Amino acid sequence: STAVKPIREALRLPAGSQVTVRGWVYRRRDLGDKAFVVVRDSTGIIQAVFTPESPGHALARKVTVESSVIVGGALREDPRAPGGKEIAGRNIEIVGLAENFPIRRDASREFLLEVRHLAVRSRKMTAVLKLRSTVFEALHEWFRSNGFYEVHCPMFISAAVEGGATLFPVKYVDGSTVYLTQSSQFYLEALIYSLEKVYTVAPSFRAEKSRTRRHLTEFWHAEAEVAWTGLEGILKVEEELVSHIVRRVLEKNREELELLGRNLEPLKNVEPPFPRISYDKAIEILQGKGLNVKWGDDLGADEERALTEEFDKPFFLYGFPVGVKAFYHKNDPSRPEVTLSADLLAPEGYGEIIGGGERIEKLEELLDKIKQFGLNPSDYEWYLDLRRYGTVPHAGFGLGMDRLVTWIAGLDHIVDSIPFPRTVTRTYP
Ligand code: ATP
Ligand code: MG
Ligand code: MG
Ligand code: MG
Repeated sequence: STAVKPIREALRLPAGSQVTVRGWVYRRRDLGDKAFVVVRDSTGIIQAVFTPESPGHALARKVTVESSVIVGGALREDPRAPGGKEIAGRNIEIVGLAENFPIRRDASREFLLEVRHLAVRSRKMTAVLKLRSTVFEALHEWFRSNGFYEVHCPMFISAAVEGGATLFPVKYVDGSTVYLTQSSQFYLEALIYSLEKVYTVAPSFRAEKSRTRRHLTEFWHAEAEVAWTGLEGILKVEEELVSHIVRRVLEKNREELELLGRNLEPLKNVEPPFPRISYDKAIEILQGKGLNVKWGDDLGADEERALTEEFDKPFFLYGFPVGVKAFYHKNDPSRPEVTLSADLLAPEGYGEIIGGGERIEKLEELLDKIKQFGLNPSDYEWYLDLRRYGTVPHAGFGLGMDRLVTWIAGLDHIVDSIPFPRTVTRTYP
């Protein structure tokens, strides 16, 4: 028999070639005395047709959907078949006969999440996962070709970064209580003193209590920290990184984007510079749209969605009030009621995908702000040390990888951006 070929490659061979493919039965039906078996592998799908004369005919009739199979035969043109060619089936080997597959076409979203270990085989999920893989690849590619070092930070931590309300406590080996990390930022800040430009990609954990379309309890967080720079410098990093990632997806995942029904026009528009809007202006616009917000409020998904109507590409929202951003953000010296911070919002209704800004580098300023926020400086001893030994101006950001994938793939819920989502109501499978 011939060597096994990926389906995508098999479809490129000339009609008449003998081919062997392997994969899983995607569809199965009989038409008259012919048995049709559509086989799927990671590269595509192909149809094999077995006539009663073919040695594999009886097995082809018996095989069930999602069984694993090896199929051989001669390739022939068929304009009606997916890919324009099909296999005149000769033999079929059933490697694992599948029981009655529980997923039907009309399955509910909740049921699909309950059987996620099987639902990840769908063509939609496969397309999303390929795109997601490109997003991670492109992120590493960009950082590594721009002088950043990849570093790795702990997941067990002893104090909050983003605030106590979303901390996950864990009983540690010595009986004490520790927490799962919400952000690697403080560790990245420590590492700029040796490496200057650092990044990491790791899970962050947040006990988000409300159900939304954009919050997971465990999400993939890409974070970067850069010494000797400020807000301007870090925004440039963000816009170049994001546009590089989108460009790569457009190059590598056309088929997947098409299968997902993604409109490509907004993605083609993701080139720097990204427009900017101040928080002050945003509040004005939102009030003009009749939303109930006032200066000093944090903005949520609804407000962000309304702002995205003003832009046809990602945009920065800068100058958040001191009260809505964490204590480590530096206040604007020319206007101390606002921080030198900015969020990057994705267009088309998606909203925040990055939060970032300049960090406080002076010890006294940091101590004042910790107290002003009602926090205890002794919980931040090692973080304060970073300002005691050779402090430098620096800035950084956190990018939600799952949110980035959700937007690029044009999905309507973050759970569809990751194979095994963890949410307020789900930790299985
Ligand atoms: P939000 O306002 O949506 O709750 P945040 O401002 O609390 O987000 P940051 O602390 O700024 O989030 O975290 C940096 C980035 O991490 C966010 O811009 C977002 O892309 C991502 N992120 C934060 N929380 C979650 C979550 N629960 N699930 C998925 N991604 C998240
Ligand atoms: Mg949050
Ligand atoms: Mg936010
Ligand atoms: Mg944020």
